[in-house]
Amino acid sequence: MTIVYSPGYGIDIGPHVFPTQKYRLVRECFADQPTVDPEPATWDQLALVHTHEYLDKLRLGAMTAEDVRQLELPWSAEMVEAFRLMVGGTITAAESALRKPHSAIHIGGGLHHAFPNHGEGFCPFNDVAVAARVLQQRGVERIAIVDLDVHHGNGTAFIFESDPRVFTFSMHQQHNYPMWKPRGTLDVGLADGTHDARYLEALERALPRVLAHHPQCVFYLAGADPYEDDQLGGLKLTKEGLRRRDRMVIDAARDANLPLVITLAGGYARRLEDTVAIHSATIEEALSRA
Ligand SMILES: [Zn+2]
Repeated sequence: MTIVYSPGYGIDIGPHVFPTQKYRLVRECFADQPTVDPEPATWDQLALVHTHEYLDKLRLGAMTAEDVRQLELPWSAEMVEAFRLMVGGTITAAESALRKPHSAIHIGGGLHHAFPNHGEGFCPFNDVAVAARVLQQRGVERIAIVDLDVHHGNGTAFIFESDPRVFTFSMHQQHNYPMWKPRGTLDVGLADGTHDARYLEALERALPRVLAHHPQCVFYLAGADPYEDDQLGGLKLTKEGLRRRDRMVIDAARDANLPLVITLAGGYARRLEDTVAIHSATIEEALSRA
């Protein structure tokens, strides 16, 4: 199984709830595994999803105060390059998953709040959307996105709203950021405090609907933030529940013989080691079921 990672993801964004060091810490949990170093996504690839006006703002540092407030990340050339590299990581993982053995892990990505014309919620670019567009250019047209971050995949839903080839499934905490949730193909908004059993039941009901789309490739955003001790989430999943969630998605793709591209997405546990452990469990499950 291919694992994609770059040390370039660990940028300094000052004191921030988003722990960019998590990528390195997760990678260190699999020190004996080789990883593939991605190339940055090209600006042309980014333009498959994002507007030229927005890309120019990021490239030239011409963000307004409102842009920065919405993105919730300080602008720097280093920040833009790190996320361009991270989009490249998801593209690399997707290309790898389409070759056998049909599954790839990106220790990064899942930037589902980025829209064509602006970034939001720590997401300057929408890596999964860009990778999906790259695959479509290569003839892999029918794609499913399984987004299990605690937050709704607003940017992704918006980007593919009028593309019936892409099935966007988001299961999230209903009463949480983002306030405006553009309609995806399948949205499951969960009540505050939802526990493992109810969550896993809902996932079990939803996955057959995703597969009924007959995707040629599945992207999985394995957010660690549905965890009970997450600072930005209000669900009550345990670590074991999250592991079972991962197993369900991985098994569903494997049983359908579908390429699966795993990205990490969010994770803001009070204790950083919990976020790292949850992401690492996702990778363990993928490796053990390969
Ligand atoms: Zn999130």
